[in-house]
Amino acid sequence: MSEACRHLDDERLLIALYGAGKEEDSAHLQACPECAARLRRLEGRRAAWLSAPAPAPDASRLRAQREAVFRQIERSRRPLWVAVRAGALACAILAAVLLQRPAAPPAEMAAAPALSDQQLFEDLATMIARDTPMAAEPLMALFTPQAEMEMQNQ
Ligand SMILES: [Zn+2]
Repeated sequence: MSEACRHLDDERLLIALYGAGKEEDSAHLQACPECAARLRRLEGRRAAWLSAPAPAPDASRLRAQREAVFRQIERSRRPLWVAVRAGALACAILAAVLLQRPAAPPAEMAAAPALSDQQLFEDLATMIARDTPMAAEPLMALFTPQAEMEMQNQ
């Protein structure tokens, strides 16, 4: 029986670890002491990992990680296209400021950035999905103080 001779690769072993392995893999694990030992090692490591307290997030490390990811995303954009779009955006914002009083900036821009992984994933999803490159934010910031002053004078 050739199936019994074929050891499980790491992926199938991981799937078995989480109880989602195929029947033939379960049969192999019962018949093969080598793979059964590998599975027990994985189970031991997983149990140790789950019982250990999660390390506290290091804010500076998370920030550096996030900045590196953001830089990579910005670098992947085409510079000329970014400049053109940033200019177009600046014009659109200027028009918006002149024609109507804009709403206050979103709360997440004013608040200190949260640094959880969940927040990072959400930020990245937003960055990748949005049309406005981060390079345009300094331009947008030019108009923000004026908008805030108008809001305060109301
Ligand atoms: Zn095996």
